[in-house]
Amino acid sequence: MNTVYIGLGSNLEDPLAQLKSAISTLQQHPDIAHFTVSEIYRSKPVGPQDQPDFINAVARFDTELSAIATLDLLQSIEQAQRRVRERHWGPRTLDLDILLFNQELIDEPRLNVPHPFMLERGFVIRPLLDLAPQLRLHNGKTVAEHVNQLDTSDLVAIKEA
Ligand code: ATP
Ligand code: CA
Ligand code: CA
Repeated sequence: MNTVYIGLGSNLEDPLAQLKSAISTLQQHPDIAHFTVSEIYRSKPVGPQDQPDFINAVARFDTELSAIATLDLLQSIEQAQRRVRERHWGPRTLDLDILLFNQELIDEPRLNVPHPFMLERGFVIRPLLDLAPQLRLHNGKTVAEHVNQLDTSDLVAIKEA
């Protein structure tokens, strides 16, 4: 069994709905077990404010799928939601990235793991803190230690009723 962490992001016109739809699809998928998800975070776009807020979360699950098969699955979910939305909302919809796949280092044309930019992104590390504060990252630090080096002041957890 492989343990996978993924990043979920959207800046669609209704990004929260977009993320929830992806979460629901993943939760129900037959090849995915023990799915858990962080809180969902909102951040204001940098620059022009006449665009939607960014919505991000991190999820963890177990799967027997290989890393590439997991990427195929994530891309098929991106495609499915993109296809539905394209007509109404424009092209940029859902982004699903593999952050970590077990402790593996993968350097292939289609897949780099750990995700090359995850350590510098507050919108990845802050949600990861919800799931796995003691997880040791590839810079030798735990998530709890590493998050202090990032500016996460723009991230607000969405409070739901
Ligand atoms: P960023 O990498 O900065 O987060 P992005 O997510 O916007 O950029 P995309 O256009 O979604 O980039 O993906 C481009 C390609 O990246 C994908 O087609 C995929 O093959 C490749 N890729 C490499 N490593 C990964 C990974 N760890 N997770 C998802 N895709 C990856
Ligand atoms: Ca991305
Ligand atoms: Ca991506």
